[in-house]
Amino acid sequence: MYKIGLTGGIASGKSTVVNWLLRHGAVAIDADLVAREVVEPGTPGLAALRDAFGDDIVATDGMLDRAALGAIVFTDEAKRKQLNALLHGFIKEAIDAKAKQLEAQGYAAAIYDIPLLIETEWYKDMDEVWLVYVSPETQLHRLMERNGYSEEEASHRIASQMSFDEKRPYSDQIIDNNGTPEELEQKLRILWNGKKHLFALQAR
Ligand code: ATP
Repeated sequence: MYKIGLTGGIASGKSTVVNWLLRHGAVAIDADLVAREVVEPGTPGLAALRDAFGDDIVATDGMLDRAALGAIVFTDEAKRKQLNALLHGFIKEAIDAKAKQLEAQGYAAAIYDIPLLIETEWYKDMDEVWLVYVSPETQLHRLMERNGYSEEEASHRIASQMSFDEKRPYSDQIIDNNGTPEELEQKLRILWNGKKHLFALQAR
């Protein structure tokens, strides 16, 4: 499978980009979705978290109690690392399984939509990295608008992430999303025209 890692900061436009690509024939694996699936009730992932962090992290309805888990790892760096390592293992396994399914359907390439692609060093597994770029001002504005955050809250969320400049050296392709949606589409059309052959369904 040819892996194209797509990443970018919060509210940079990753979902907008992926949705456009999906409409034009790409296939994608959504790491956020996988991260939720691997801890659904009854999964080995949730069982492993229960073993590591105690029964209280599972609510009475069998769902992961994120607040309880958050309270445990919030003040304990070692536990936070343990949680991340556990989750990372399950997520990676599930993503590999999804990639195999896509391959079985004949896809030769997939978009790996991974918000923390660089931070987790997952970019090393990718054949290409695409980075969505917005200026700090645009990012702040779009995040406040989309999430209804105050300027303070939005700034705080942005500041807690790795910056675009830090991510740039790891990327092969910058997708500038400072313009209008139409301008973005135009850029994506050019990019997609140069890459769509990679995705072509292979004869099985
Ligand atoms: P997150 O990291 O929070 O998942 P994201 O990177 O997937 O966010 P999107 O949800 O695609 O970002 O975009 C953030 C917001 O900006 C959305 O409300 C989206 O509609 C809007 N947006 C994206 N691109 C543009 C654009 N070119 N012009 C105007 N608004 C845009």
